[in-house]
Amino acid sequence: MEKIQMTTPLVEMDGDEMTRILWKMIKEELLLPFIDLNTEYYDLGLNYRNETDDQVTIDAAEATKKYGVAVKCATITPNHARMDEYDLKKMYKSPNGTIRAILDGTVFRAPIVVKGIEPCVRNWKKPITLARHAYGDIYKNTEMYIDKPGKVELVYTSEDGEEKRALVQEFKAPGVAMGMHNMTASIESFARSCFNYALDTKQDVWFGAKDTISKTYDAKFKEIFQKVFDAEFKEKFEEAGLTYFYSLIDDIVARVMKAEGGFIWACKNYDGDVMSDMVSSAFGSLAMMTSVLVSPQGYYEYEAAHGTVQRHYYRHLEGKETSTNSVATIFAWTGALRKRGELDGNQALAQFADKLEEATLSTIESGKMTKDLALITSIENPTVLNSRDFILAIREALEKML
Ligand code: NAP
Ligand code: MG
Repeated sequence: MEKIQMTTPLVEMDGDEMTRILWKMIKEELLLPFIDLNTEYYDLGLNYRNETDDQVTIDAAEATKKYGVAVKCATITPNHARMDEYDLKKMYKSPNGTIRAILDGTVFRAPIVVKGIEPCVRNWKKPITLARHAYGDIYKNTEMYIDKPGKVELVYTSEDGEEKRALVQEFKAPGVAMGMHNMTASIESFARSCFNYALDTKQDVWFGAKDTISKTYDAKFKEIFQKVFDAEFKEKFEEAGLTYFYSLIDDIVARVMKAEGGFIWACKNYDGDVMSDMVSSAFGSLAMMTSVLVSPQGYYEYEAAHGTVQRHYYRHLEGKETSTNSVATIFAWTGALRKRGELDGNQALAQFADKLEEATLSTIESGKMTKDLALITSIENPTVLNSRDFILAIREALEKML
């Protein structure tokens, strides 16, 4: 069989620990035999980040701007323990944080739905994609204890000296107070990312906030979404047969529980933090969640939602067998290859991505899976495979299909 050719390189960001091991296996068994893989490789493994003072992370993000599509392996975000373990020069920032700061944009997370791994919510038939705004609100707040009676005010002073004041509370007794903010530009680009991604994946957008209570702050979110939608997306949505729907966040939550899925749920920062954990655990497993960062300029970075699976890696180092689920990492690759294929008009590449996904899902549906899935599957007597054998089983299914 002739290998599939690629015209534009994919930005490849390698990572750490168990996912780095899976990364290599996926390339060797599922990609390189079939594709003349054209990637620009960046080693985001912690050792090389340390060697380059983290310059490699910045270079990888810049390359993503140049080529438009990247695929990333999970990486360690250093803490004190990692400083010693890797003898680091300093406590580098989270690579995802660095990349997001350079590309801007919104992270979309979607569960991989497969027969045999049923969501806890019976009526969920299709994935629910969660879009979380990644800037501001309580993640950039200022708060204080109030120890004795007194007045808390919100004061704004413009650069040219104009002042606005609002009373927060006349405290007669001790309490707490908080100030937070967001930026019009950030909310606009969040809205744009959601609508673009909706057109891309042919899904409706649902957005919920609490504008009945927060008549200025949340009302601003609602207003900006509507303004961006009307000005830039209304016609495109009509053509594609899609809808944008705003409601109060509590109403949206109630509807989500009754819906069958297949839409994008846009959430403010805090709502997204909470709801993404609910959606992912209700769908089954963190090892079955994909994640893609979409910038307002239309750059894409695909990855798995889980981390480097450190505990499994230590077992691996001890020479023990591991059964680590590679599905989300495989889907990061297929997402990136399909997008590259679409952008380059390279049908063979996009079709390969579809086939590899099908082969992965049919392997699980045939009862062959890793331990994490075997524990939750409704399939009787599943075959539990180790990390490598699971990937080899997918290769076998893929070869039959091609
Ligand atoms: P984790 O790697 O997501 O793993 C937590 C636990 O979840 C594992 O111990 C395992 O449970 C289960 N799990 C996750 N992915 C799995 C998979 N593919 N197959 C089977 N089981 C899986 O989170 P962590 O251990 O808290 O973090 C490890 C490192 O990852 C940290 O250094 C952190 O900084 C980094 N991290 C990176 C990213 C990223 O790059 N996007 C995201 C999160 C965390 P059992 O042990 O019970 O089997
Ligand atoms: Mg959280």
